Amino acid sequence: MNEDANTRNDMNDDRLKEAEELVALDRAHVWHPYSAANSAAPLFPVERAEGCTLYLTDGRELIDGMSSWWAAVHGYNHPRLNQAVEAQLKNMAHVMFGGLTHRPAAELAEKLAKLSPAGLEKVFFCDSGSVAVEVAMKMALQYWTAQERPAKGKFATIRSGYHGDTWHAMSVCDPDTGMHHIFNGRLPIHYFADQPRTRFGDAWDESDIDSMKAILEAHHGELAAVILEPVVQGAGGMWFYSPEYLKRLRGLCDQYEVLLIADEIATGFGRTGKLFACEYAGIAPDLMCVGKAITGGTMSFAAALASKQIAAGISRGEPGVFMHGPTFMGNPLACAVANASIDLLLESGWQDTVFSIQEQLEAGLEPCRALPAVKDVRCLGAIGVVELKAPVDMNRWPELFVERGVWVRPFGRLVYLMPPFIIQPEQLQQLCRAVCGVIQEAASA
Ligand code: PLP
Repeated sequence: MNEDANTRNDMNDDRLKEAEELVALDRAHVWHPYSAANSAAPLFPVERAEGCTLYLTDGRELIDGMSSWWAAVHGYNHPRLNQAVEAQLKNMAHVMFGGLTHRPAAELAEKLAKLSPAGLEKVFFCDSGSVAVEVAMKMALQYWTAQERPAKGKFATIRSGYHGDTWHAMSVCDPDTGMHHIFNGRLPIHYFADQPRTRFGDAWDESDIDSMKAILEAHHGELAAVILEPVVQGAGGMWFYSPEYLKRLRGLCDQYEVLLIADEIATGFGRTGKLFACEYAGIAPDLMCVGKAITGGTMSFAAALASKQIAAGISRGEPGVFMHGPTFMGNPLACAVANASIDLLLESGWQDTVFSIQEQLEAGLEPCRALPAVKDVRCLGAIGVVELKAPVDMNRWPELFVERGVWVRPFGRLVYLMPPFIIQPEQLQQLCRAVCGVIQEAASA
């Protein structure tokens, strides 16, 4: 596709009219993420998606640089994933999980337990990433209550984290860039350690752990767990930090009898170059959350994994059961497609692919470094980030990317690419060129 030809002039009138009608209908009734109910921000109706291409209703085609927020690792409309859903649909779309089970759920739990860091053997299925975080936090609280240590009711985390938008997930998001200020005084108050500053790949600076160490030393009696995103912090800042931090943290958590929760919802299933980012540090958390790419982006699904010891601890004490059980827990369609997505990933030679995407991202985004608007460029696995000095104008930038034939959705000061793993080199080249081009055009205007 000619990357300069994705402008409105090329569009057929009927398709343009259909797209405009759709946007008008949407604007009348739909409320979009992180937006006002009467938002007039640009909106692009998608008719279908295939491989790494989004086909807009107005006739334009976009190369996807976002994997639908980390999820669509195999691209869109993948025949293996579709087939898994179709086959499962013939048996049952759903059945309640209380007192019943089914093959897709049992097989998926076994698979997750085998693939995840050692010791995480019990799998609790959840509807979304945020719910998985709520569940893991609840498990930590119930564990300590069952151990007759109810004072351990708080959490510690690191600044610039993001763990979702439900209540307790929000309470451990970054207190400044998250939503704390909106819910000031209402969210539970937890402890926030400094963000680890040793970059991934740099020599470890021992003082990086000092702030977390001080919190654990002073407050371990009231701490249920430390929760954090291992190695890659996502929506809170797209920051990659040294795995040494996790090694030290694992030791401190053991020393002070505080549980460790790894939120692998964004990092899980290969995105960073390891199947799970904890593998960079060679550590196993007590509880781990996975989601997003678990179904290859087909549907919302997640899980909280618990070590045998935590699961047994919760089940042994009072009240002896884990108090959570959503209506759609263990949905068979989601389990079936998750099994297919994980199998596909494991068969795909994903690690070489991810590291070759990293190499291409590094080379393709390198020219951004020289631009005056750019503060930093960093890449890890299939994630490429350009950090700007000032926030982007979300009323203007999305259209600039669409005009270049790509789908890139920046936030704040961050422009980033995390394409499906099946991205072709020429598509990735177009994405990188578009990022450099838009930054040059928009930031210098
Ligand atoms: N945790 C992390 C690290 C995430 O990146 C996200 C979503 O971006 C969540 C939790 C929340 O997941 P969900 O949007 O599926 O609720």
